[in-house]
Amino acid sequence: MSARQILVVEDERPIRDMIAFGLRRAGYVVLEAEDCREARTIIADARPDLLLVDWMLPDMSGLELTRQLKKDRDTRDLPIIMLTARAEEHDKVTGLEGGADDYLTKPFSPRELLARIQAVLRRTAPAGEGEVVQQELLSLDTAGHRVMAGNATVALGPTEYRLLAFFMTHAERVYSRSQLLDRVWGGNVYVEERTIDVHIRRLRKALADHAVEHYVQTVRGAGYRFSTRPV
Ligand code: CA
Repeated sequence: MSARQILVVEDERPIRDMIAFGLRRAGYVVLEAEDCREARTIIADARPDLLLVDWMLPDMSGLELTRQLKKDRDTRDLPIIMLTARAEEHDKVTGLEGGADDYLTKPFSPRELLARIQAVLRRTAPAGEGEVVQQELLSLDTAGHRVMAGNATVALGPTEYRLLAFFMTHAERVYSRSQLLDRVWGGNVYVEERTIDVHIRRLRKALADHAVEHYVQTVRGAGYRFSTRPV
């Protein structure tokens, strides 16, 4: 496998240099952008594997850039880690709801940054056919279209399976009902948003048989999230 490309979007040169140095030493190919406009160009040309986006950028906020990329069909699966200053820490939830896959507060150590990058790349890798995705007690077998809880099969209808498979391959991120409709049902189908709540309920019921219904979490005013971490 060729080296992974990471795009660092940060206008402060010393911070960008420091991040780039650590990433290059760890074997990543590093691309650099000073603002969102430059980032968009590089993303279109080079198709990086992951983005590090600073919150404060000269032309547009990193949050707005993240929102735009996550709305665009071509870039929505591009993993994004948001970098913030300590004062903005309370904005964490907003950042994750904007679609960022993780966030890191400055100052952070190179080791911490590398650990987050590896975790996000692992978590967001598209599940190939025949691959098994493990999320704590659950394992998703994409070839067998089956989800196991330990040694027991989780009894799921086809829609609940698709929903859970999507959740398990997109863990920790919050999805609104309309995003779930788009991603799990497909954009063309006419389904009412409250239909999703029905399937979420069925999914939780199936997971409750294995005492893991808490993995499917409701995020008030935002949507749903799959997480094996406590709420
Ligand atoms: Ca900045």
